[in-house]
Amino acid sequence: MADLSNPKKTIEVIQKYKFVFQKKFGQNFLIDAHVVEKILSSAALTQEDCVLEIGPGIGTMTQALAERAGQVIAVEIDRNLIPILSDTLVGYSNVTVICADILKMDLKKLAQEQNGGRPFKVVANLPYYITTPIIMGLLEGDVPVETITIMVQKEVADRIKEEPGKKEYGALSLAVQYYAKPEIVANVPPNCFMPRPKVGSAVIRLTRYQEPPVFTVDEKLMFALIRASFNQRRKTLVNGLLNSPEIVYTKEQIQTALEEQNLSLSVRGETLSLQQFAELSNSLVKMIEKEEE
Ligand code: SAM
Repeated sequence: MADLSNPKKTIEVIQKYKFVFQKKFGQNFLIDAHVVEKILSSAALTQEDCVLEIGPGIGTMTQALAERAGQVIAVEIDRNLIPILSDTLVGYSNVTVICADILKMDLKKLAQEQNGGRPFKVVANLPYYITTPIIMGLLEGDVPVETITIMVQKEVADRIKEEPGKKEYGALSLAVQYYAKPEIVANVPPNCFMPRPKVGSAVIRLTRYQEPPVFTVDEKLMFALIRASFNQRRKTLVNGLLNSPEIVYTKEQIQTALEEQNLSLSVRGETLSLQQFAELSNSLVKMIEKEEE
């Protein structure tokens, strides 16, 4: 089937199958060949790669992925798109379409079965209603992933990339930056999609670290500190932590840990870097160990 990355061809396919866009699935199909090319060149695919595509839609990007990668696994939730994909992907023998909810799949098992446990390259124009759970599921779980090249809302891309003290900086920035190096590759306006989304979009590439960039004795505690800090942005870090049901430390213990890190007792969580959150959690762990000796 001919290249689908233009409005005319997309409309043709949609009309042929009487396809009705489902808002609940975040369906905004790409209709711009330049954008598809930009995503693909950023993903730097080779014949050695196995790509996991989340939400292939009518197969616009899937076709291009199949031409460059060795193998493509495309996971689509909407069963009405499956017959369309059988049509648009006819002749691409290296594509496997799976009808499933990506959030309910065991992706580690999928990598084992489809790629001998070697890492996927994830490439997708994501459904925006589940952007964060998809990204965090790929990073936090034990999923073998090398890079994640995805279209997301512009605002989410900015949050992921943001630095301490800035308005958009938050738990998502820190969580992603702990696991991967983020780079914004392109900004994409609404007219590159059908139907047009209400918000601007951006392509972001996350390159997974082999080892996290900071050292933590207790990763769970570090993320609990991060969540507690950003749940109550207007409070000082000390009050934010004291109000959090996840944090069991006393005011004195938190203050001592802050002093050890040369941080002011009135510091706000949103000004702390990933390194500082890691060091703070390490101080708290050490303090309890000492008290127990
Ligand atoms: N890749 C296509 C493109 O660029 O034209 C479609 C992208 S569209 C933004 C998002 C796609 O993800 C839709 O096809 C939608 O049905 C699918 N989708 C939504 N939720 C999903 C889920 N939980 N699991 C798998 N696919 C999902």
